[in-house]
Amino acid sequence: AKLLETAGLTLTLGGRGILNGIELAVEKGELHVLLGANGAGKSSLAYALMGCAGYRPQAGHIVFDGEDITALPLHERARRGLALAWQEPARFDGLTVADYLVLGGKRPSADCLVQVGLAPQAYLSRPLDKALSGGERKRIELAGVLALSPRLAILDEPTAGIDFLSQTEIEGVIRTLRHQGAVLLITHQEALAAGADRASQLCGGRIVCAGAPGAVIENFKARRCRRCDGETCHG
Ligand code: ADP
Ligand code: MG
Ligand code: MG
Repeated sequence: AKLLETAGLTLTLGGRGILNGIELAVEKGELHVLLGANGAGKSSLAYALMGCAGYRPQAGHIVFDGEDITALPLHERARRGLALAWQEPARFDGLTVADYLVLGGKRPSADCLVQVGLAPQAYLSRPLDKALSGGERKRIELAGVLALSPRLAILDEPTAGIDFLSQTEIEGVIRTLRHQGAVLLITHQEALAAGADRASQLCGGRIVCAGAPGAVIENFKARRCRRCDGETCHG
């Protein structure tokens, strides 16, 4: 059964076409990987799906579990079970890690930190500010998504950063989130992409290839793209 489906999703930012008629479907229980070169529009698609301000599509529809959510604001989508781990996690001066994790959280904060490889006793009382490294903030961001037990977790390059999660840790996080609902994973890591149920390749704001992950990875790496002829699809 379809959990998320987009039809003709079109987004223009600053007069430029960023997403051009995106057709994307994520099934319940699926790990769906989104591949694409830098600038392809992956993060913009993630923001549009989540309903971030400034990323409202000019055309097309987003359907979540049978409901058209295209016009719903971010918090209404979050209430329905969508969650996004940002490529660049925000800092929240004045909040501790514990404060951040309990906001809307369903799962115990300590368990979620352990799952991303952080010792709860060392982190729960830490302020979520610039004293944390980029890598630590990315881990905490993932812990925050785990705490929400979302029905669809959108993870935007969760392993890109200074201090990498180990393969085992990130795979564990993804497995948990997939069992709870489904995962849309944006990544350049072939090992993670290869473990997906399905994959889609984005180029120039269009889905240029979709299907079994192996075939999509090959297409991406071989710079075979009907749209740009491999010019902008860097593997
Ligand atoms: P990716 O995540 O695949 O690297 P992005 O979604 O970040 O790609 O960006 C896709 C394109 O959209 C890029 O050319 C980027 O410069 C442009 N873009 C992203 N956000 C904005 C914005 N707010 N205003 C104008 N252009 C934007
Ligand atoms: Mg990018
Ligand atoms: Mg991005």
